[in-house]
Amino acid sequence: MGEARGRGTTSHGGRGLRRAALVVSVAALVAVALATWALLRPAPDVGREPEGREEAEAAPAASPEEPGPEELREGLGIVEDYRPSLSHGEKGPEHQRYIVLHDTEVDAEPQAIVSSWDASGNGVAAHFVVGRDGTVVQCVPLDEIAHHAGYGDTGHNELYGIEEDGRDDMAGTVPVGEWASDYGMNAWSVGIEMVHVGGAMDYTPEQLEALDGLIAYIDAYYGFESDIIDHKAWRSGNSDTSPEFAGYLESYRTTRTHDGEAA
Ligand SMILES: [Zn+2]
Repeated sequence: MGEARGRGTTSHGGRGLRRAALVVSVAALVAVALATWALLRPAPDVGREPEGREEAEAAPAASPEEPGPEELREGLGIVEDYRPSLSHGEKGPEHQRYIVLHDTEVDAEPQAIVSSWDASGNGVAAHFVVGRDGTVVQCVPLDEIAHHAGYGDTGHNELYGIEEDGRDDMAGTVPVGEWASDYGMNAWSVGIEMVHVGGAMDYTPEQLEALDGLIAYIDAYYGFESDIIDHKAWRSGNSDTSPEFAGYLESYRTTRTHDGEAA
C-alpha cells in the first residue's frame, strides 16, 4: 500500500507537474504570439521591402557603362569645320561599311589642310584629319559622302560588296583608266586622313591615340564595327597609307587600336 500510496502520491505529484508544465507552455505560446504580433505590427516596414528590391535592381545602372558616341566625341575635342563644297550626297547608317585610312603626304596643321581642300575646288576631302599633335578636325558630317577614295581597281566594287547607286554626285571626279574603273567606296565609307609624309617621319603617339579614339567614336556612332582598310587596298599603287603604318594597320584591323590596348 505504502508502495501504492507512494506511487499514488508520486502519480498525483506527476499530474501537478504536468499541469504546471501546461500552464508554462500556454504562457510561452502567448508570449510567442505577442512577440510575433509585435514583430509583424510595423506593417510600413514590410511595405518598404519592394523599395529595397528596387534599389537593389537599380544598383547595376550605377556601375560603369560603355561610353556613348557623344561622350567619346566630346573626349576627342573634335574641331568642326564643315565645308559644304566637300559634301557629295546622303550617306545614312545603312550605307556605312568601311573606315578608309589615308596619309596627307604633306605636313601641315589639320585646319590648314581642310582649308586647302576647300580652296582647291575639286571637292576632294576626307571626313576627318588627324594632326601630329592629336587634333582632330572634321569637315564633312558622318551622314554625308566625302570624296576621299576615288576610283578603285576594276572589280573592287564587287570584292568589297558595294555598288554605285547614284547617291554620290561624283562632282569633280576624273577617271584614272580602265584598270581602276570602280567608284563605289566613297558612298559606303568614312575617310580619315593622318598628317604624315611617307618616308619622312613617324606617326606620333598623340596622333595614334587620337585615331584610336576616333575609331571608337565611329564604332559607337553606328553601333557596329566597320571594316578598316587603307587607301591602297582600294586602289593598288596608291602611296597611302605609308609603309610605316603597316604594323598599326594590322593592329587596327584586329583590335581597333594601334597597339592592341583599349582606346
Ligand atoms: Zn588617300
